[in-house]
Amino acid sequence: MAANAPKKRVAIFGSTGSIGTQALDVIRANSDTLEVEILTAQTNDELLIKQAFEFKPNAVVIGDESKYDGVKAALSSTDIKVFAGEAALEEVADFDTYDVMIAAIVGFAGLKPTLKGVSKGKIIALANKETLVVAGDIVMKLAIENRSPIIPVDSEHSAIFQCLVGEARNPIERIILTASGGPFLGKKPNFLVNVKRDHALQHPNWSMGAKITIDSATLMNKGLEMIEAKWLFNLAPHQIEVVIHAQSIIHSMVQFEDGSIKAQMGLPDMKLPIQYALGFPQRIKNDFPRLNFKKYPSLTFEEPDIKTFRNLWLATEALKKGGNVPCVLNAANEIAVWAFLRNRIGFLDITAVVEKTMEAVAFIENPSLEEYFESDGEARNFAASLMKL
Ligand code: NDP
Repeated sequence: MAANAPKKRVAIFGSTGSIGTQALDVIRANSDTLEVEILTAQTNDELLIKQAFEFKPNAVVIGDESKYDGVKAALSSTDIKVFAGEAALEEVADFDTYDVMIAAIVGFAGLKPTLKGVSKGKIIALANKETLVVAGDIVMKLAIENRSPIIPVDSEHSAIFQCLVGEARNPIERIILTASGGPFLGKKPNFLVNVKRDHALQHPNWSMGAKITIDSATLMNKGLEMIEAKWLFNLAPHQIEVVIHAQSIIHSMVQFEDGSIKAQMGLPDMKLPIQYALGFPQRIKNDFPRLNFKKYPSLTFEEPDIKTFRNLWLATEALKKGGNVPCVLNAANEIAVWAFLRNRIGFLDITAVVEKTMEAVAFIENPSLEEYFESDGEARNFAASLMKL
């Protein structure tokens, strides 16, 4: 950023999560160019208050309305505005006073505030992939109409985005999304049937929130990323390939029409794509550990096992069918993962719930936003009834 340029004012939706806290690390390390304008949390009032005292935003939102009085009282000595409840997320997303929204709420709950940011023409640093999985057509159309740049934070999509810089005139032949394979790479159903939550929460390469960690273990995360990539980079399903790359050094690749492939690499650290999105088009200097190729004498690549990890197959089907199917897949998955995290269902049941819900909810080819919300609700109710929740 040029000397004397105003600081970028950042609104972090989901500031208490894995992405949110790492985004604050990036802002703390770059306080000469970045400042916090809005912070939001769902239930973690203690951390939200701590963050508010440190970063002095203009406003905070606590989703859980029962915690409003506590947050308000704790911040009464400051002039920070305090809001509560789901509607307040859209209210603060409508503010003129921020430049960049970091969309880091987990799940479908991130859709409405992100849509508001997009409709305001804000720069969106998008971590919340579910927003694009559910309603990618509507989000991207709105982004074009309002000139809202969507810069991916998901490491694979950030990699592709970085590979595409300078290639505006060169069509993509295909993208290759790399997948670590998660903690159960190489395992078969007879093993997976006994997997418990604490084991599934141990990801080999990345430290992330609970939902995405389970999605990584089931490979649903890669399926959601395929759908996210379709919308971000305007791709047809046959242009999106997944390859297992257990070391997570190559974050993804783009193949152009001459067969040449560009890859983006680095040690697995989400702070890199977060700061790339915040600094874009500039790269921000940092002192993060550097990749030493000699420590990685072999980078491996293999076909994903979609017979065992059927979630990836289901997501590929949703990608091909389009309409409300990805929305239904996402809703069923969110509720099944919720149940798995509470030991209410087994690991393989997640896939069964998603598949049955996809079969049950009626297909809509070109859903309106209201119809996406209805499909989400219907899928959640059906999935919950299957699990007797
Ligand atoms: P976390 O679970 O760690 O954090 C989620 C954040 O969203 C928290 O601030 C949480 O508040 C808030 N939140 C949860 N539910 C709601 C709700 N219903 N309404 C409003 N806010 C809510 O998730 P991650 O940071 O891991 O992931 C966030 C998003 O980024 C996901 O979509 C994920 O797929 C994506 N992503 C994450 C990566 C990672 O490394 N973590 C990598 C790539 C993408 P509270 O803390 O109060 O509950």
